Amino acid sequence: MSAAQSKILKEVLSANDAYVAGFGDKKELALPPARGFAILTCMDARLDPAKYAGLAEGDAHVIRNAGGRATDDAIRSLVISHKLLGTREWFVIHHTNCGMQLFSDEVIGDLLEDNLETASFDGKKWSNPKHGHGSTHGHFIKWYAFHDNEDSVAQDVKRIREHPLVPGFIPIHGYIYDVRSGRLVEVPAATAGGKPV
Ligand SMILES: [Zn+2]
Repeated sequence: MSAAQSKILKEVLSANDAYVAGFGDKKELALPPARGFAILTCMDARLDPAKYAGLAEGDAHVIRNAGGRATDDAIRSLVISHKLLGTREWFVIHHTNCGMQLFSDEVIGDLLEDNLETASFDGKKWSNPKHGHGSTHGHFIKWYAFHDNEDSVAQDVKRIREHPLVPGFIPIHGYIYDVRSGRLVEVPAATAGGKPV
């Protein structure tokens, strides 16, 4: 383990100690989300769904991946969220300045084929600081990169709406979180596509 990792591990465990000390009544929380809804959103470190959507522990399901995309696995979680845990209203929330807009499936495939360590971005192009010991496996993965935020939200809401395991009565709202203001901005075309049917 590197020195940096061990510092991070110490910080996380000490933060957890403080959290446990104030845990209190949260031991009584029920498993199903108390407020009956779920959010699918991006893993971007600047987004904190608990804060931007006003969630406390036990309130809602938050499903996160790179881009907040409606992948098979995100849909798996949403179906469990409704079918077994009772959520009845869903949000798809992407955001401005998403890293998923900065590459294509071909670009990440080529970068990984060359080398696995962190690449750098000069504002236009990605490049590898090191070369060798890459893998071609990246060419066989769908990475769900996208260019247009409004399109990506609308596509994902539509994919969820049309999924055979998703009941038509669940409203699916499409929003973009603005990383400059913290505001959730509706994508009307997405929300229209996500209306109950
Ligand atoms: Zn993102």
